[in-house]
Amino acid sequence: MKVRTRIAPSPTGHMHVGTARTAFFNYLFAKQNHGEFLLRIEDTDIERSKKEYEPDILNGLKWLGLNWEGELVRQSEKVSIHTNYLKKLLESKKAFYCFHTTEELEEEQKNQALEKISFKHECEHKNISSEEATNKLKTNNAIIRLKTPYKKIIFKDLVKGEVEFDTSLLGDISLAKNLDTPLYNFAVVVDDHESEITHIIRGEDHLSNTPKQILIIEALGFNQPEYAHLPLILATDRSKLSKRHGAVSVNDFTKLGYLPEAMLNFLALIGWHPKDEKEIFNIEELIKEFDLTRVQKAGGIFDIEKLNSINNQYIKNMVPAEIAKFIAPYLDMYNPTEAQLIKVAHLFRERLNIFSEVKELAGFIFALPIYEASLLSWKESSKEKTKEKLEVVLNVLESIPEDSFDIDSTTTELMPKANELGRGEVLWPLRVALSGMAKSPSPFEILDVLGKKESINRIKKALGKLNEA
Ligand code: GLU
Repeated sequence: MKVRTRIAPSPTGHMHVGTARTAFFNYLFAKQNHGEFLLRIEDTDIERSKKEYEPDILNGLKWLGLNWEGELVRQSEKVSIHTNYLKKLLESKKAFYCFHTTEELEEEQKNQALEKISFKHECEHKNISSEEATNKLKTNNAIIRLKTPYKKIIFKDLVKGEVEFDTSLLGDISLAKNLDTPLYNFAVVVDDHESEITHIIRGEDHLSNTPKQILIIEALGFNQPEYAHLPLILATDRSKLSKRHGAVSVNDFTKLGYLPEAMLNFLALIGWHPKDEKEIFNIEELIKEFDLTRVQKAGGIFDIEKLNSINNQYIKNMVPAEIAKFIAPYLDMYNPTEAQLIKVAHLFRERLNIFSEVKELAGFIFALPIYEASLLSWKESSKEKTKEKLEVVLNVLESIPEDSFDIDSTTTELMPKANELGRGEVLWPLRVALSGMAKSPSPFEILDVLGKKESINRIKKALGKLNEA
């Protein structure tokens, strides 16, 4: 049988990285088994689902390159199928109408809470005859429930191992608000069956739903798929990863300038470890090496430092011309030329964790920051001495022809002077004059990016500052 997996996100918020990881594990498992990875939008929860989140999910998956097979399925468009199966269950008396009101159920829940038992509703309405139920339905609201058979359910989870549940703890499971409004556990079973899903790989927050879904599968006479429940993603403080920890939606990471390949590489390592210490994997390697049965049971840590380091390793491997394309949007306000972008890319590619950092790191190249004249002086050096050294530097640089003004020529011409007059005394004021900052790349690298004209301008500006000070 062909392996078929799916990601079934609900459009109730921006696409969380946890959903992205679940999607990726489903994708990897399908691909390594020459199967198919599908997408279903679970939008039956009318109150919580919002249309606007659907494009966010689709864009997130597309950005990551997690392309799904065929048309996406919207759960809300399948309601007539759900209705048919509900009717079947009612006819075969495996399901029934429960006429208890919300108030009655809430009261029951409250009482059970007082007795410290988790809520379950064992409904005596399962004994009402079909005729009486049909009659009552004319004037009363009712939800549809499964006549839960009490037994032990044991299934083998590919991550958790053998899982056992006592279904008597569940009560009579609710299936639908009415014939046209299926609820999650029922809809998911029908949809997975209709799409011939063979493996359900999802977050462990759904583990408690699994026995309910197995009971529904049994009632409908469907084949039971395999299950794999993935450990939750935790923040470094081991609490559930949420907005207060910073970026959590795929969209946030896209905007910050992460590479999708690096993001996938990182996501693969949350809760899964390769056999050796290797950290950088391309997608083909992951398809080959990923092993669902080696996913850990304990929560996986979302360590942003690790993501940054992985992203940095990917950036370092790119050629400057390619990096230039990615950093361009973040330097847009300076209208940089392509040649400038390539130089900036070359200068910062070792240091960049994410592309958006370029704005802060390289902004000074396009617009000299405002700085104090005192910053120009090396340690205790006087203003006069600083001026003297900068004048020497200016003379040397002016003597280099514009078309050979680069990192080699400026180093060859300036270093002997720096060695003679003191490296700190010469290179510090030059670097500050060029960057306006206490910390920056080396003056030779900056000279190269700025070019002769702008470099000379900035040094003259510094001299002006010293004269005024
Ligand atoms: N719609 C569910 C969610 O967003 C997923 C259900 C499932 O994978 O079975 O968490």
